[in-house]
Amino acid sequence: MKNRWAETPENEIDQLVYQSRLVGAEESLVLWGGGNNSVKSQSTDLLGKPIDVMYIKSSGSDMKTIVPKEFPAVRLDYIEPLRPRDGGMSDQEMVDYLARCLVDPTSRRPSIETLLHAFLPARAVLHTHADAILALTNTRGRETTVRDCFGDSVITVPYLRPGFRLSRDVADAFASKPDAEGLVLMNHGLITWGETARDAYEKHIALVTKGEEWLASRSPAATSVLSNVDATTVAPVIRGALGATRSVILEFDGSEEVLRFLARDDAKRITQIGPATPDHLLYTKRFPLFLDAGDDVSKALSDYVERYKAHYDNYRSEFAMLDPHPRVVLVPGAGMWTAGKDARAARIVRDIYRHTMRIIEAAEGAGGYETLNDEDAFHAEYWPLELYKLTLLPKEKELAGKVAIITGAASGIGRACAERFAEEGAHVVVTDVDVALAEEVANGIAAKHGLRRAVALRLDLSSEDDVERAYAETITAYGGVDIIVSNAGISSFGSLDVLPAADWDRSFAVNARGHFLVARAALRIMKQQKTGGSIVFNASKNVTAPGKEFGAYSVSKAAEAQLCRIVALEGGEFGIRANMLNPDAIFGGSRFWSDEMRSMRATAYGIEPSLLPDFYRNRTLLKTEVTADDVAEAALFLAGPRSSKTTGAMVPVDGGVKEAFPR
Ligand code: ZN
Repeated sequence: MKNRWAETPENEIDQLVYQSRLVGAEESLVLWGGGNNSVKSQSTDLLGKPIDVMYIKSSGSDMKTIVPKEFPAVRLDYIEPLRPRDGGMSDQEMVDYLARCLVDPTSRRPSIETLLHAFLPARAVLHTHADAILALTNTRGRETTVRDCFGDSVITVPYLRPGFRLSRDVADAFASKPDAEGLVLMNHGLITWGETARDAYEKHIALVTKGEEWLASRSPAATSVLSNVDATTVAPVIRGALGATRSVILEFDGSEEVLRFLARDDAKRITQIGPATPDHLLYTKRFPLFLDAGDDVSKALSDYVERYKAHYDNYRSEFAMLDPHPRVVLVPGAGMWTAGKDARAARIVRDIYRHTMRIIEAAEGAGGYETLNDEDAFHAEYWPLELYKLTLLPKEKELAGKVAIITGAASGIGRACAERFAEEGAHVVVTDVDVALAEEVANGIAAKHGLRRAVALRLDLSSEDDVERAYAETITAYGGVDIIVSNAGISSFGSLDVLPAADWDRSFAVNARGHFLVARAALRIMKQQKTGGSIVFNASKNVTAPGKEFGAYSVSKAAEAQLCRIVALEGGEFGIRANMLNPDAIFGGSRFWSDEMRSMRATAYGIEPSLLPDFYRNRTLLKTEVTADDVAEAALFLAGPRSSKTTGAMVPVDGGVKEAFPR
């Protein structure tokens, strides 16, 4: 590993920030909020009296993007007297105590490993969960492995969950050998120290590099492996099985590294030994689900759940059993799927399991992978402090964990649906013929709601290949699909006696056949998932109240309406619902109302084009203008669980047009 220290900022906090970012940039040192660092310094109390303090990384902050305010200062004069304390300290007691040691009570909560840093006399301390160290300490005969690699230059401390006792053990071990280069925590990570953040960093990199080189000399050379399973046919089955009680988003990793790992003869055995650290366990669960070719996914999953239940029953906890489903699914020849309540959670699991694979592989080369025993693994998962955090989570949103494909989503009603659904927790596939505009919408959603919450795809509904490709890409992105808003349509006008047949065909290609292609692929995937689904067709007011000179449009839209009913008929037994919306006269942001269209309709009604919105508003029973957001609200209702007993229905969103009453 490269020593990247290039400059030393003047101020101590800036040095800590600089050190954090160098460490955070190395994924094989820390991932997603892991690791922590500190520096001991001086400050003043409320009365201006000098005090010894320690700046320590706050709990949960991410090293690669950390800023100075994420290093709260704690008073060392309050912490030092704790060390000899009889009977230790529970985790909750420790957290409460540390909250009262903050120099500024409004600052962030200090790391759970604060005492570990505070009890060490060195000025600067750095702690990571480096892959190389984890590989060495997750071997059979771990003490010997660590000594073979580092000689007597490091101290080792046996596995204990982070907390008061581990902090004291670390301080005692340090006192027995203060000239050590570093301290290795079994199944957990590495600690180094020094006078400055730079000293601690440089010692850290030197030890990790030594570990990496030692392991590399024992690893077999990489071979080449190719994928031989079509991942898009497997993903919906996996997502459906995992999402039987709660929808999940999947992330797929079919990289060569994963395929190579899964092609090992012993892949199944070595993945069922356990996680590399208790920290990893919280994200990846203890074991991945390993599927061999031909395995029945739901049978394999129920076996997995049974195994988890037995593990829980064996140790029990004051806390109810956590979700017993796997978060990592491995399929040799295809790759790895990771699951989360949203795309970000699935990404974290993916990143962590990639490192787990590297650690397992390196440890296998160094004597054999071995990790936490059953009991330690149980207590790492049912750690009261972590479980308490879960109780503070906000209530899940209406479409949490759901995937929605929306056609014609770059503007107007489609865009309003995409944005509204994302607000309610959905992951949105923004499709449109105008992919640049679709990307703008998707980027806006991701910026507002988070990582991978929307993707943009080019989709021309008149092309069968395009539709199939859009679904395949959706499956690759999220694992499946739950909601469709079949919205895209094209307008065309002209009285029948002069209407070119090409216009008629074009209308049907999109407004009828396009919706059929979208519904067909949706039904196929939803049946594979076995978790139902909801398809919302944007049918338009013209279905119930057609307009003259609007033949190609109105007749093709009537076909769409009938298609919706057939989908409801055929989907019912699978829990797949189909309903339609009949909006009218949506002007804002709509491409439907081109200048040509406006002037054509205005002429038909004998008014000025600029008066058209007023004309439509005044002819409604509610004398109101209907917006794309109004339609999105109705679409949300039909897409989500609040309408779970409704299928085959028609909902006008037109301000009230009596000619268009459904009957
Ligand atoms: Zn740690």
